[in-house]
Amino acid sequence: MSLRQANNNGTSQNRSNQYGPQKSRSEAGFYLDLNITLMESTAVSTSTLAPDEFDRNVPRICGVCGDKATGFHFNAMTCEGCKGFFRRSMKRKASFTCPFSGSCTITKDNRRHCQACRLKRCVDIGMMKEFILTDEEVQRKKDLIQRRKDEEAQREAQREARKPRLTDGQTLVISTLVEAHHKTFDDSYSDFSRFRPPVREGPVTRSASRAASLHSLSDASSDSFSHSPESVDAKPVNFNNLMMMYQEQGGSPDSSEDGSRLSMLPHLADLVSYSIQKVIGFAKMIPGFRCLTADDQIALLKSSAIEVIMLRSNQSFSLEDMSWSCGAPDFKYQISDVTKAGHTLELLEPLVKFQVGLKKLNLHEEEHVLLMAICLLSPDRPGVQDHARIEALQDNISETLQAYIRLSHPGGRLLYAKMIQKLADLRSLNEEHSKQYRSLSFQPEHSMQLTPLVLEVFGSEVS
Ligand SMILES: [Zn+2]
Ligand SMILES: [Zn+2]
Repeated sequence: MSLRQANNNGTSQNRSNQYGPQKSRSEAGFYLDLNITLMESTAVSTSTLAPDEFDRNVPRICGVCGDKATGFHFNAMTCEGCKGFFRRSMKRKASFTCPFSGSCTITKDNRRHCQACRLKRCVDIGMMKEFILTDEEVQRKKDLIQRRKDEEAQREAQREARKPRLTDGQTLVISTLVEAHHKTFDDSYSDFSRFRPPVREGPVTRSASRAASLHSLSDASSDSFSHSPESVDAKPVNFNNLMMMYQEQGGSPDSSEDGSRLSMLPHLADLVSYSIQKVIGFAKMIPGFRCLTADDQIALLKSSAIEVIMLRSNQSFSLEDMSWSCGAPDFKYQISDVTKAGHTLELLEPLVKFQVGLKKLNLHEEEHVLLMAICLLSPDRPGVQDHARIEALQDNISETLQAYIRLSHPGGRLLYAKMIQKLADLRSLNEEHSKQYRSLSFQPEHSMQLTPLVLEVFGSEVS
């Protein structure tokens, strides 16, 4: 015997209807469990309980047959079967006769056996034919539902249309630039062995040797808290300390005792020369670049090459040890290596800061290559003639970058602004680099180490 059947036996006096305004007594008691729950949860009169107020925890059971109810139908909680049965019976104005004694117990399984008692049960629990919609009303309701669906679909389509979407042209620009970068940036760095070899040993400046010894400690985050008793200056090693210690040594290699010996210069000059070639190759693949006059192409390349080199070198820059790692251990470049090529901390400190900041932006490759193209296509470079044309090319790439970020870089709301700030940082790095390059190239023993391409691109003579 099921719980429901048990409820149904011997508790028939407790059966006031709680399903709707029409209170009626019923012989059967299938919904007694419902009644009890209702009375417990609402304590007072629940006879006008509207569907909305209906406690969600109340089990939804058909008041007619005990099947799972789907909601209020014609004023009472019923299953779909009893809902349909009531509607059909009312529409046909059917009159049924019970073949038994007129007091059949209606269950889910036998509800088809006696229509008379099932209908009586329907009326007993409060189902009302006034709640049945006419065909017209049904149609109107259907139309309304359909209209709401249509409106929702329309809103969805509008939302979809408002989503930032890359145009075919933008998609092409991105894929072209990514491909151009792949063709001009070999991340195996296998060509580096063809450069004049790096020389780190031998006479070095004091600041450089001090710098080298510091590099093992330069991971600020992990070393700040390791207080080794042996370490005399236990102050946390971070970027600023690192730079201060360089500066204490006097940054200019030219002023130090063996400044004339720039052991890393030949290797790094070859590296820079090689990088310039690659930047030129990249530039030529930027859509629109080759349509510029030769003079404008040269003007753009001459002024932006070092900036693009700084940008692309970020790919090998490592935050762990603040160095550029290009494959073999010999091609891992630390700040001290660059000082041994004639550059001072006035360039290297902001350069490393720039590399750290750029690395932390975690740019996608797409963003990285777009940024390089924007840098190359700056209309405000000295010597540029066709400003408008270059600006139009740059605008197109800037818009592509912004659309890309909106579409594909979650949380990138401020990223575009930060990237543009990096371009401003590059301008001052460029300026400092030019200054240092000029003083280096004025010394014949140093300028003879440079390559013709470096001399041409970084040289100040107007082409
Ligand atoms: Zn039912
Ligand atoms: Zn019957």
